[in-house]
Amino acid sequence: MIRFSKACIAGNELKYIQESMQTFSISGDNLFTKKCHKWFEERLNCKKVLLTTSCTHALEMAAILLDIKKDDEIIMPSYTFVSTANAFVLRGAKIVFVDIRPDTMNIDETKIEKAITPKTKVIVPVHYAGVACEMDRIMDIAKKYNLFVVEDAAQSMMSRYKNKALGTIGHLGAFSFHETKNYTSAGEGGLLLVNDEKFKERADIIREKGTNRSLFFRGMVDKYSWVDIGSSYLMNDISAAYLWGNLEFADEINQNRLNSWQKYYDGLKNLEDKGLIQLPIIPKECIQNAHMFYLKVKDLNERTKLIEYLKQNDIYAVFHYIPLHNSEAGLRFSRFSGKDIFTTNESEKLIRLPMYYGLEASIITKIIKTVKSFFGI
Ligand SMILES: *Cc1c(COP(=O)(O)O)cnc(C)c1O
Repeated sequence: MIRFSKACIAGNELKYIQESMQTFSISGDNLFTKKCHKWFEERLNCKKVLLTTSCTHALEMAAILLDIKKDDEIIMPSYTFVSTANAFVLRGAKIVFVDIRPDTMNIDETKIEKAITPKTKVIVPVHYAGVACEMDRIMDIAKKYNLFVVEDAAQSMMSRYKNKALGTIGHLGAFSFHETKNYTSAGEGGLLLVNDEKFKERADIIREKGTNRSLFFRGMVDKYSWVDIGSSYLMNDISAAYLWGNLEFADEINQNRLNSWQKYYDGLKNLEDKGLIQLPIIPKECIQNAHMFYLKVKDLNERTKLIEYLKQNDIYAVFHYIPLHNSEAGLRFSRFSGKDIFTTNESEKLIRLPMYYGLEASIITKIIKTVKSFFGI
């Protein structure tokens, strides 16, 4: 069976894990965490980054930092992972979903203003498949209504919008290093980007169980104590050592994925030209990172058949998010602003093909052939 995804191993991960162990200081914020932090600060051009246990936790930190309280309203797309919503629901907020655009599967920026009420506090754009939301428009709306923007950039390491790294445009940004993402720490991990100066100090405190421990280590206070709410959100150094093994080859990994993506695109283009499928659209102001390769078929029924056909041919392809607004928890914690024109419909057409670092060209050729034969071509 051809796998759908594989954790990225670039080569030196084990060596760095051993190096970390040999320091006998393997908790958070040690040798490899510092190396990773410096890399992200330089590459993303961001003044404050914090490795976390997951993107879910980075989003939870964002909700605490923004003082989200009961009945605050948070705007986001329904076509996303549960953590985007949960992070805010945990603080008592209500989620207000806005429809997506059919071209990028991202939040439709033209429908956000209508969803704003006096209770709205935050807009959470999710950059689906590492392709940017229309951030200029979103930041303008946020400014006009005095709202915060938290980018769910879980899938977006190395992606850009008008040459700015995703995750650095909103007040806060969150990334994932789960094994299914382009870069991974030891299976689970995340990163919080603190772009707005005023959150820098408190972000350290919330991540360190509500203490000013990291200020103490930097010599800024002479003892550390309990100063705020918080939790344990630090990535351990063994995990950061694994991540460092990936980051060392970040450009090669990115190029390898982009090459696979292009091979799929070129190979399936003629199915699109015949009107049988739709291929992904990358707006010209976006640089993507080939986080995923998806295509869209006619409807849910055709998708189910295609997934089954691929499985019979030893190819594991999968669908993606089931919109949150109609889920059991969604019905309790959210409302949908306006009409669901594209969210449900487009999500039912989408199928993701195998994509990982090191995916062999011969396998991509086989997958393209199999998809074509499904359509009788
Ligand atoms: C993967 C993902 C997350 C969650 O990341 P974890 O690191 O597993 O917590 C959140 N949002 C989106 C859009 C994701 O793709």
